[in-house]
Amino acid sequence: MNIVFVSAEVAPFSKAGGLADVAGSLPQALAPYMDSVQVLTPLYGQIDQKKYDIQSTTISGQVLLGVDIIPYTLYQATAPDQTTQIGFISCERFFGRDGIYTESDGEGFADNNLRYFFFQLVVLDLISSGTISTDFLHCNDHHTGLLPLMMKAKQLKVKTIFTIHNFLYHGHFSEEEISLLPESTEAQLTKTQWDNYSALLEGIDHSDIVTTVSPGYALELLEGLNVDEHSLIRIQAVKSKFSGIVNGIDTKYWSPSSDEYTPFHFSKDDLLGKRKNKEALLTKVGLSPDLDAPLLGSISRLVENKGFPLINDLLDEFVELGAKFIFLGSGSPEISDQLRKASERHPQHIAFDDGFNEPLAHLIEAGSDMFLMPSRFEPCGLNQLYSLRYGTIPIVHRTGGLGDTVEPWTTDSGTGFVFEPYDVNELRKAMKLALEVYQSRTVWLTLMRRAMSMDFSWDQSAKQYLQLYNL
Ligand code: ADP
Repeated sequence: MNIVFVSAEVAPFSKAGGLADVAGSLPQALAPYMDSVQVLTPLYGQIDQKKYDIQSTTISGQVLLGVDIIPYTLYQATAPDQTTQIGFISCERFFGRDGIYTESDGEGFADNNLRYFFFQLVVLDLISSGTISTDFLHCNDHHTGLLPLMMKAKQLKVKTIFTIHNFLYHGHFSEEEISLLPESTEAQLTKTQWDNYSALLEGIDHSDIVTTVSPGYALELLEGLNVDEHSLIRIQAVKSKFSGIVNGIDTKYWSPSSDEYTPFHFSKDDLLGKRKNKEALLTKVGLSPDLDAPLLGSISRLVENKGFPLINDLLDEFVELGAKFIFLGSGSPEISDQLRKASERHPQHIAFDDGFNEPLAHLIEAGSDMFLMPSRFEPCGLNQLYSLRYGTIPIVHRTGGLGDTVEPWTTDSGTGFVFEPYDVNELRKAMKLALEVYQSRTVWLTLMRRAMSMDFSWDQSAKQYLQLYNL
C-alpha cells in the first residue's frame, strides 16, 4: 500500500500551527506499515533548503489555472527520521515569498485561494500523470479540500481521506474563482448559505473517509456546536464515514529527557532538571528567579478562541496571588497589545514574547509548572499533550481534544485542571485549585509523575488510521 499525505505545512520545514506537527509526525508513524509514504507540500521561500538538504528533482510540469499556464518543479528531501519522502512543490510566483499564509503584519495573502488551487492542481497532475502512484490520498484541511472532488472528476482510482484539523477555517471561494478549477468539477460544487463555496465542505462531501483530530471534536461537530446550519447538514450527511482520531505527538522531538532546545534534561524519576529549566526560563524572559512561585506558561496563536479574553480578565488577580506567567504567541494585534500591557504592569510577574519561537516553546514546556489552555473550542490541541509529557500540568476547558486528553484532578487521580462551562469564574476556580494543589509539594510531584506517565505517542492513533484506510 502506498499513501500520499498532502498538507499546506509540515514540521520541521514549515509551521504555523498544529497541522504542521501532525503532517510531520503521522506519516512517519504510518511508514512501518506501508510500502511507501510520501508527503507533498509547498516549497515556501522561508524553508531552509540547505539545512534540510532539499534537492531539486528532474520532475517538473505545468498546470492550467484559468487562462494561465503555470510551471512547477518538484524538490525532495527525506524526513529527519529517514522513513518518508517529502516532495516540495516549487513555484516562485506563489510560494517564493516569506510567510506561509500571511504577510508580516498578520494579514492573509490576497491570493491565498489561487496559491492553494495551484498546489492542489499540481498534486492532481503528479498523480494523474502517473509520476506519483498511490492507493490513498490523505488530504488535510481546506488547502487540500478540493482534491477529493478533483480526483473523482478525473476518475482516478485512489481512495481519499480528508482530515479536519480546524472547522473554523473554510477556504471560501467565489463563483468567479470556479473558472480556475478543472471544468469537470464545476457541476458538483455546492454553494454555501453565504453564496460562496467552501473548500473545507467540499473535502467533507467528496472524500471516501472523513476524520477529525479527536473523538470529542467529532461529536461536537456532529451535534452542531460552533457549526452553522448549512454546514451541519453537510456534516450530518456524511455521518457514516465520519470519525475522530486523537492526534499523537512526536515523542522524540518533544522529549524532556533529550530535548535539543532545553539546557537541562529530566524524567519522571529525576525531576531536578525541570527545576533548573524553570530557573533558566525565568532568567531568559526577564522574570525574577523566584523558584517557588507557580509559573504558568502559554504558547499559542493569539486568537480569541484560544481563551485570551478569560485570561486577560484574571491576570492582575493571579499576580496578586503570587503567580507568574510567560506568554509566547503571535496573531491578533489586540491580544498582543493586552499581553504587552499586562507585562508592563507586572514586569517581574508577566513576560510576553510576541513572535514564533520554537526553542522558547520547548523551554516553556520544560520550565513551567502549569500550562494555561482555556480554549473556547479545541479540535485536538497539541500543547496540552507536550505539557503532560514535560510534567507541566495543563489547565484546560473541557472541550474537543482537551476533554479527551486531560483527566480532571482529584486527590488520587487525574492529570490536570479541567473546567466547564467556558466562563471566567470557572477558569478562576480551576486556576485557584491548581495553585492550592501546587502548595503541597508531594501531591504536586505525584500529579506531575502521573501526567508524565501518559502515552500520547502515535502508536494507537496510527493504527486507527490504518484501520480506516483498510476499509
Ligand atoms: P493550533 O493548531 O490551533 O494552532 P495546536 O495546539 O494544535 O493549536 O498546535 C499549535 C502548535 O504550534 C504547537 O506545536 C505549538 O507549540 C506551536 N506554536 C503555536 N504558537 C507558537 C509560537 N508563537 N512559537 C512557537 N510555537 C508555537
